[in-house]
Amino acid sequence: MGGPASRTPLSVLPYGRQDIDQADIDAVTAVLRGDWLTQGPAVEAFEGALRERTGAAHAVSCANGTAALHLAALALGLGPGDAVVVPAVTFLATANAARYVGAEVAFADVDPATGLMGPGQAEAAMERAARAGWRVRALAPVHFAGQTADMAGLGVLADRHGLAVIEDACHAIGSVDVMPDGRALPVGSNAFGTLTAFSFHPVKTIAAGEGGAVTTNDLRLAARLRRMRNHGMERDPAAFEDREAAFDESGSANPWYYEMAEPGFNYRLTDIHSALALSQLGRLDAFVERRRRLMELYAERLAPLAPLVRPADHVPWCRPAWHLCAVRIDFAAAGRTRARVMADLRARGIGSQVHYIPVHRQPYWRERCGDLALPGADAHYAQTLSLPLFPAMADADVDRVATVLAETLGLPART
Ligand SMILES: *Cc1c(COP(=O)(O)O)cnc(C)c1O
Repeated sequence: MGGPASRTPLSVLPYGRQDIDQADIDAVTAVLRGDWLTQGPAVEAFEGALRERTGAAHAVSCANGTAALHLAALALGLGPGDAVVVPAVTFLATANAARYVGAEVAFADVDPATGLMGPGQAEAAMERAARAGWRVRALAPVHFAGQTADMAGLGVLADRHGLAVIEDACHAIGSVDVMPDGRALPVGSNAFGTLTAFSFHPVKTIAAGEGGAVTTNDLRLAARLRRMRNHGMERDPAAFEDREAAFDESGSANPWYYEMAEPGFNYRLTDIHSALALSQLGRLDAFVERRRRLMELYAERLAPLAPLVRPADHVPWCRPAWHLCAVRIDFAAAGRTRARVMADLRARGIGSQVHYIPVHRQPYWRERCGDLALPGADAHYAQTLSLPLFPAMADADVDRVATVLAETLGLPART
């Protein structure tokens, strides 16, 4: 990345996009020229780098973030009768992962100013789940837009009720929890949780093409993640149960032998994707820095548009790697519909997106859970709009977005 401020302004700004440089391309082509296309040295190198980056004892890469969430549910052995607490403001996959293993979803409300589920909202969802006769086994907080949920508070709640915590950190690679005593705990370290799921989809902070990973400090869970990622296949002689088939009369493991205790999936990440992810992980600090700077500029440039336009509230416990610039807009007070604002922005070359339609409002979940009242999630949905945020944006792009947004909302242009 060159001097960011001197970048050429882009004529069309998507709300997010990947940043691929020559080193990324070289890393991928080196794999293509080598001996392994899948599950070779690049996978191991990436997993090692992710362990180092997060501080977790184990990192298991996989096909995408959805697979990561599914593997986490499988590793915990969740199933029918169990329930997972999921904030209503998230991508579909957080809730779907629970259903893949037959578990129920207890949707929790969020703080409308941040989109985050706190301990109080999680506890209310647990009470609803108990009334439905479900056994709550896990919390699945989502680090919306790159800000972390209150993990210290959720960790206390989880400990009190003996729950596992699956962090959906698909927005939050590079974010750091900062403790009152100054300790910095990277997302993925699982300081408060059990398993953390990441996505490396191109719209996220680092890209693998498609890619994901789960980190954990639990050796047993890591072994299960690895096994379920690869058909449920076990090749470690120490884990074999069928001794007669596995070992010869001298007690040596038969070299061809493998064992399956339960059916798994093919959720492997390829060496091609791992090479890109590893190269991108090396650029993460620069990405985070640039995103932070762009968010500061947005805060400055959007300040004159208050109170019609306000940035998301910042939580005090987190140094975020901003994934989204999700602002709150009072469309009713501006006398403009969101659809109209988005269309007007689009016509001026500015992409935007809504993160998210609350998941409990989806037909599948309405059918399953009935009409849940989650006013925080509804209030978040009513106001949220994600503006362009990605490292290749120029400072002038932020100026343009702020100016065009003001005009679109019928506000006097900034001076
Ligand atoms: C992107 C995303 C996922 C799914 O990740 P994929 O890699 O696209 O499968 C899950 N949860 C959240 C919050 C996400 O943003």
